[in-house]
Amino acid sequence: MAKLIIVSNRLPVKLQEKEGKMTYKPSEGGLATGLGSIYKKDDNLWIGWPGMVVENPEKQQQIAVDLHDENMHPVFLTETEIREFYEGFSNETLWPTFHYFSQYAVYDQQLWETYVAVNQKYCDVILEQAEPEDTIWIHDYQLLLLASMLRERLPDATIGFFLHIPFPSYEVFRLLPWRKEILDGMVGADLVGFHTYDDMRHFLSSVNRILGHGSMHGWINMGSRSLLVDSFPMGIDYDKYAEIADSDEVKKREKVYRNNLSDQKIVLSIDRLDYSKGIPQRLRAFELFLEQYPEFHEKVTLVMLVVPSRDAVEKYKELKEEVDELVGRINGRYSRITWNPIQYFYRSYPIETLSAFYRMADVALVTPMRDGMNLVCKEYVASKHNDPGVLILSEMAGASKELSEAILINPNDINQVVASMHKALTMPEEEQKACMSRMQESLKRYNIHHWVGIYMDRLNYVKIKQMSMA
Ligand code: UDP
Repeated sequence: MAKLIIVSNRLPVKLQEKEGKMTYKPSEGGLATGLGSIYKKDDNLWIGWPGMVVENPEKQQQIAVDLHDENMHPVFLTETEIREFYEGFSNETLWPTFHYFSQYAVYDQQLWETYVAVNQKYCDVILEQAEPEDTIWIHDYQLLLLASMLRERLPDATIGFFLHIPFPSYEVFRLLPWRKEILDGMVGADLVGFHTYDDMRHFLSSVNRILGHGSMHGWINMGSRSLLVDSFPMGIDYDKYAEIADSDEVKKREKVYRNNLSDQKIVLSIDRLDYSKGIPQRLRAFELFLEQYPEFHEKVTLVMLVVPSRDAVEKYKELKEEVDELVGRINGRYSRITWNPIQYFYRSYPIETLSAFYRMADVALVTPMRDGMNLVCKEYVASKHNDPGVLILSEMAGASKELSEAILINPNDINQVVASMHKALTMPEEEQKACMSRMQESLKRYNIHHWVGIYMDRLNYVKIKQMSMA
């Protein structure tokens, strides 16, 4: 029977070794939950790196056996591969370029060669596991070359690719020395999916200008075969977030936090430490807000959760220093014995804690400079039930295309961000609830299960359509 193989850089599990014993902790990311119901079925399989460098072949063998019980199969990466493929080409070349931070991009032939070699390594591992009629669904920017590598060996396989980060406009994408090879890699898929219509347009335009293939209604005709390009905005596991927010444990936590913050209005910000998230810009906007609206002193607190991320990469270390300094400066300037304008936490939290923060927040301030989708804003909305709350959301986040009832802002326009904070903090409750419930309706319907369903349906449709075109 044909099976489905999901491929991503990381497996939905975190491997750890404690006192010589392996432990496998499932990860709770959106993708893992969304795909959980399908990869665990029948003989389906999820292939990826298990999150730990393992060199001993016997240990590798044991891990492979353990993971197979959970419908997973490992790709083992060496220290050098992690450094050059993952931290290097993926996070220092592709990530900045695709997020419109080309000035941060590193162009290094060695990193590129390792990127090619690691994509080939994934391909080889998949070929050991795949049958010609299987469906293979590849995820994200670490594996841009994989679809064509697989196509060469499995010409009739059903191959899907989904990019979870933005696809930049042609003028930015063309700056990459390996632009042609990257596109050649992606067009090996039968269906190339993006979060937004704009990402899809940018990709089609690059394919046209760089590879010379035109398109019609999203179909690219490559001569020997055709592929479809389409947008699929990813949703969240809505019911899970709504249910957790309604649990007694979360309500109890909220009460404890609330007691410590008296009757302050809470503005919440949650992100990984990443330059694409606009954290320093947000802090400067909050500082200007305090300057312009002294009546809000001691009345509002910015609760800022920053999750450590990619701290081996130089740009991220610099950003950490900048954020620390800004928080210190603003708190130094405005704090009272009884009030800190910014409560800053640099660590990651379990979902129950996040949920309590979401419940408690009067305003969620989500202002990335660029974001493929942004799930935090969706989780905030899902956690609110019938309570008031206002979402301030950057136009540069993919989610802004769906959440038009949020207060949409340009994160570079500091005056607009300040004005929107004031508007959010003074908005009548009825208006807050009306906007919130409209956003809730749409997120409830277009949830993660719906996303997986329509992507898979579309992929099957492409295969049928290709046969009728042949
Ligand atoms: N998150 C978490 N712990 C934290 C902070 C965030 O698990 O302490 C989760 C959050 O719930 C969300 C994800 O991390 O699901 C962040 O996803 P998003 O798309 O907003 O940004 P990304 O980090 O993928 O760029």
